Amino acid sequence: MRKEKSNKHNKKTKTGAFLKIALVFSLLLIAVLSAALVYVTVQSPVNVITGTGKILTGRSGIRELSYSYYKKGRGKKLLTPYEDHGLGTGMMCEVIVPYGECTDGAEESNSSDPLYSPLARGTVDRVLSVAGTAEQPVYVLESGVKINDEYIKITDPAYLMPENTLRYYGSEPVIGGIKLLFETDWAVPVRVTLDPQSYFTGYDNRAFNVTEFSAKYLDIHFSRTVSLDALPDISGLDVVKKCVWIGGEGGGTLRLYLKKSGQFYGYSYELDRNGRFAFVIKKNIRQDATPTVILDPGHGGTDPGAASVDGAVLESLMTLDIANQAAEMLSERGIRVVLTRRDDVFVSLDERALITRKYSPDLFVAIHCDSEETGTAYGTHTFYYKNYSAPLAQSIQKYMAQVYGELYPGDAAADKGTKFYPFAVTRVEECPSVLVECGYLTNESNCAFINSAAGRIKIADAIVRGILEQLNVKF
Ligand SMILES: [Zn+2]
Repeated sequence: MRKEKSNKHNKKTKTGAFLKIALVFSLLLIAVLSAALVYVTVQSPVNVITGTGKILTGRSGIRELSYSYYKKGRGKKLLTPYEDHGLGTGMMCEVIVPYGECTDGAEESNSSDPLYSPLARGTVDRVLSVAGTAEQPVYVLESGVKINDEYIKITDPAYLMPENTLRYYGSEPVIGGIKLLFETDWAVPVRVTLDPQSYFTGYDNRAFNVTEFSAKYLDIHFSRTVSLDALPDISGLDVVKKCVWIGGEGGGTLRLYLKKSGQFYGYSYELDRNGRFAFVIKKNIRQDATPTVILDPGHGGTDPGAASVDGAVLESLMTLDIANQAAEMLSERGIRVVLTRRDDVFVSLDERALITRKYSPDLFVAIHCDSEETGTAYGTHTFYYKNYSAPLAQSIQKYMAQVYGELYPGDAAADKGTKFYPFAVTRVEECPSVLVECGYLTNESNCAFINSAAGRIKIADAIVRGILEQLNVKF
């Protein structure tokens, strides 16, 4: 099977010297542009470089962020619901945002659901029914998901789509992992899951808490898809040992078996500008010599976040200092750190998620402080969304619990554990992403600890230990 694949790949690379030269030229151009971008970023007054690693701020250049997506007439033309396929008409939709978040089509709830991956921009699906309210309609789609009005364009009537076929196009190394490319007849809905995994109902009555991340395979399910012509070359994928194609009712699944169960570090996918499905599977971060970590100090600027009872201690300033200290510590270890802010400025939640997607980091950690009305709540907890983010949450929580164990000797309640919760910044697929709550500003003794320089160093050190443990860096 592998021979057949490499033959296919060779054939593609031999198509012409001109293409080769064009490719080399493009790569050179990209290299020059990237160097210019890094130069601009580094020259910005809010950035510093210390130690052997780099600390960058993710702020600059965010306005220029653009997602590649297929456009009709560019690259290979995909079938669309705007031309007749001889199958009749119905209400059809097209995803118009880069990440169209979905939930279970069979459930009434519209809360974020980690078992449903977002649909890529350009995805086409048939609308089966309309739910929600008149102001906030939600559409139930043929692929079994629900999607919000704001993420899609509806055309009614439009033309129903035929069954789909996939063709493996090639695999290439990219920053952070390996990209697998597939040609498709049309932009079918895709769902990515990591199984098997048992969940339990915990914090906030949500049913997605995990004790241990246990998945053995990554399933990429293509709706309405009846065939894949050849299995992808996975030789560069250091987290995957084999893959199979599983046909079935409603679509086909490309199953990638993990080399080690519970070792997976994220993925991303899009319909690229050539109309191909492009999946990036992240490399094994435990073997990466120069990992990238995003630290996200919560709040900032016009959004101070939580405050102490007297209003004198602000979450936005505490998280900023903790993140800056952790960044210095990680940088000294040779780790590249990206901060979503380095000053007391406002950064929207969407921008923070975009920064994560732009930098394709190995780990993402949002840093926050808690508040609560009675002033009695105390201690620390760490939140995750995806099952493969749970190990990072557990590592950070372990060291945070040690810090709070010193503050509250013999009191296990100060360790509030790891929990599922769908925070906006952790609902990304690119890498393990967590949010750590460093203690309660509304609690007098927690606040005094967080407001002390020594306390913040201890907290930053605990977060750094958790990160280094996941990166397999000795400390
Ligand atoms: Zn907060």
